[in-house]
Amino acid sequence: MKYFPIEVQKSIFDINFTRLYANGKKIILCDLDNTLIPYSESMPSKELIEWAEKVKTIGFKLYLFSNNKDTRVLPFSLVLGADGHLASAYKPFIRRTKQFLKKIDATLAEVVVIGDQFVTDITVAKKIGVDSIIVKTIDHKTQKWYTKINRLREKWYLKRLKKARPDLYRLLIEKEIIHE
Ligand SMILES: [Mg+2]
Repeated sequence: MKYFPIEVQKSIFDINFTRLYANGKKIILCDLDNTLIPYSESMPSKELIEWAEKVKTIGFKLYLFSNNKDTRVLPFSLVLGADGHLASAYKPFIRRTKQFLKKIDATLAEVVVIGDQFVTDITVAKKIGVDSIIVKTIDHKTQKWYTKINRLREKWYLKRLKKARPDLYRLLIEKEIIHE
């Protein structure tokens, strides 16, 4: 079911990309802020660059999609060595992301979205019809005001998730993505 994430992890480093690839995923569409780096940073760490190399060696195409400006996303994408990026994605709206996936000629079944926000990243994945993985927000303190507003919508989302998927809900608490 694509409505809820297929995987819950503390960080992108905990995702088993070899297994994902074996399960048919070929394209990673990854959020930037608080998924890969906190707002307080602008460049990928050495560890992150190695991570990107690793996933590309497995065979993945790696793309970034962010609500942030091109002036932030482009330099990061270049240093990381991503295959491309979409800035000003306007998540949770899907028009720009859909266009982007079309532009890169993506098959939806091969795409996996990775992000730290239910009401932007995971919602976009659900609306487009691709699988998603939620990771823990790197730094809560550096969240933007619009992310904080989204917290209200998140409450509503989590209420439904708890009812429909108690197993997943428990996992979210276990991985410290949400707190009871
Ligand atoms: Mg984020």
